[in-house]
Amino acid sequence: MIIGGLQKFSLLDYPGQVAAIVFTQGCNFRCPFCYNPMLVVPSMGGTKDIFESSSEEIQKSYSQFRPQGQLSEDDFFVFLKSRAGKLDAIVITGGEPTLHPDLTGFAARIKALGYKIKLDTNGTNPEMIEKLFLGNLVDYIAMDIKGAPEKYSRFTGDKDDLDKIRKSIIMIKGGRVPYEFRTTVVPAFTQTEDIDRMGGMIDGAETWWLQRFKSDTSLIDKDLENTDIPSDETMEEMRCRGLKYVKNCRLR
Ligand code: SF4
Repeated sequence: MIIGGLQKFSLLDYPGQVAAIVFTQGCNFRCPFCYNPMLVVPSMGGTKDIFESSSEEIQKSYSQFRPQGQLSEDDFFVFLKSRAGKLDAIVITGGEPTLHPDLTGFAARIKALGYKIKLDTNGTNPEMIEKLFLGNLVDYIAMDIKGAPEKYSRFTGDKDDLDKIRKSIIMIKGGRVPYEFRTTVVPAFTQTEDIDRMGGMIDGAETWWLQRFKSDTSLIDKDLENTDIPSDETMEEMRCRGLKYVKNCRLR
């Protein structure tokens, strides 16, 4: 696994669990409001675009460009063993973890140490999600709904992704494990009417979190930095609209 970072402790990222967060390197999206450009964009500290590369090329590229002090997979597992009894779970996030062909093996090693796993995904690799379900390698899944379907190309540039995203939604809503959908509300991209379009995509789902965009951090689109964030009123209006489609629509 190409590990881009590790947060050793979190009480916020996996509901009800004490967790560490492992960040995988690389993503097939370029969401303008992404908070982790260093994991995504090569010129901002990421590795060569891994989705134009074979597995071997990815590893070679990573070993050449990995910043000093960044974790190897072996070091990560040394850390996990040292936290036995202190952590309940590991959150695998990114970047986009499902694009790494060795994700199932990586998850199996984590599970073998007794940890639960939460996966964060943009939903573009339903085959990988299915493999994780079949192997009982994931205990909680959080999938992003980036925007109304007709706006997805602003993030992906690839029409095929929408079919894959819809497949992932159906699979996740099947309820093999607890799950949530989540949307970052960005004034420049998310209008109140978009809630209906996104709600239609996940109709009947259990939980949908609407997350207020943060602009006081490094973002992929520098022009979005320090721009306005949604007001409390807008967030609440969107939450009420969202409740037409899901059982729980929450704000964070
Ligand atoms: S999918 Fe996630 S990691 Fe990838 S660019 Fe978008 S916000 Fe960033």
